[in-house]
Amino acid sequence: MTAVVACHGDRVPGLRRDQDLTRFNTLGLPARAAWFAQAYTQEQLSVLLAWASERGLPVLPIGEGSNLVLHSRYPGLVVRIRLRGRRVQAAPPAGDSVLVTAAAGENWDDFVRWTLVQGYSGLENLSLIPGCVGGAPVQNVGAYGMEIARVLHQLTALDLQGTELRLQAEDCQFAYRDSLFKRLAGASPVITRVTFRLSRRFVPCLDYAPLRAAVENNYAAPDSVSAHQVRALVCDLRRNRLPDPAHLANAGSFFGNPVVTAQEHACLVRDHPGIVAFPVAGQRWKLAAAWLVEACGFKGVRESSGAGVYHRHALVLVNHGGANGESILSLAARIQKAVHQRFGVQLQIEPRVS
Ligand code: NAP
Repeated sequence: MTAVVACHGDRVPGLRRDQDLTRFNTLGLPARAAWFAQAYTQEQLSVLLAWASERGLPVLPIGEGSNLVLHSRYPGLVVRIRLRGRRVQAAPPAGDSVLVTAAAGENWDDFVRWTLVQGYSGLENLSLIPGCVGGAPVQNVGAYGMEIARVLHQLTALDLQGTELRLQAEDCQFAYRDSLFKRLAGASPVITRVTFRLSRRFVPCLDYAPLRAAVENNYAAPDSVSAHQVRALVCDLRRNRLPDPAHLANAGSFFGNPVVTAQEHACLVRDHPGIVAFPVAGQRWKLAAAWLVEACGFKGVRESSGAGVYHRHALVLVNHGGANGESILSLAARIQKAVHQRFGVQLQIEPRVS
């Protein structure tokens, strides 16, 4: 049912009651929203946020729904962010840097490809990550040794009353797959556009072994690889290991990689010599969650509910058809329990659960 809602003298067309969300989340979970609208401009978004705020309704902003686990019903307003636009700053900063802004509703990978076509590098390792620009800062998306905190210059957001805020990178409290926006979930400002500091001079980031190996295997002179070539290899690596949500419903990595102390790591290595881990700041170690899940025998499981674990990557929970939020979360809980019993490590769910 479509309604037109009056608020602050503006009219908000397209506000719907009791909207089915199945096609708005890449896990394909059946769920409904008490209220739903799509915001194509910042003004529309501002009016919608004020409308929900006046009624005391919670707000769930979504982009492409690629990092979302939905329960059966959301009691407030779900707003799909459709803001579009890309812009290169006219007065560039000194040196090789360039500031490029994208609206929150731009598809992330289309934007990455566009920056490379313009001749600006910095996002190539983050190619093919599902979702849109506005979702990327929320969990500080990262891949192959790169994360957006390293190139994010500033962003614009609306608070829950619809007032514009401007945040610099240091205001966003970025950490490993984490940010202020993730920690404030439910009360977080809604990101409307993001500005990145990219470079006209390409310096490859090949710290991760699979990417470095792909470069060395494909190019005789790895040091002179181009940003476009790195993008192509990252896309190949991802396509080989991760399911395309268009063909098999999923929300990407389902668990974060746990970080443990040096002492805990030493005990784990003693008891489980094959464990995969990487040193991180503060004399701590990041454990490869996929290895822990696979070691507990979950890789490739497929339940009668339709919930499963992807056969090529144990970190990706999938919906083969028929799964709902409860069956996905129940499988996740069994994985967490098994990993905890065997390794004493608590896995945290990465997507937003609403
Ligand atoms: P992989 O190469 O099999 O590596 C497994 C894990 O080990 C990754 O999670 C990665 O941690 C870590 N790792 C590998 N080499 C490392 C190094 N040199 N230094 C520190 N940590 C290292 O990974 P994969 O599962 O195929 O994924 C490839 C990349 O895509 C990873 O960076 C992964 O995080 C990323 N990815 C991100 C998302 C997302 O943002 N939601 C979704 C899917 C995959 P990190 O996760 O810290 O990189």
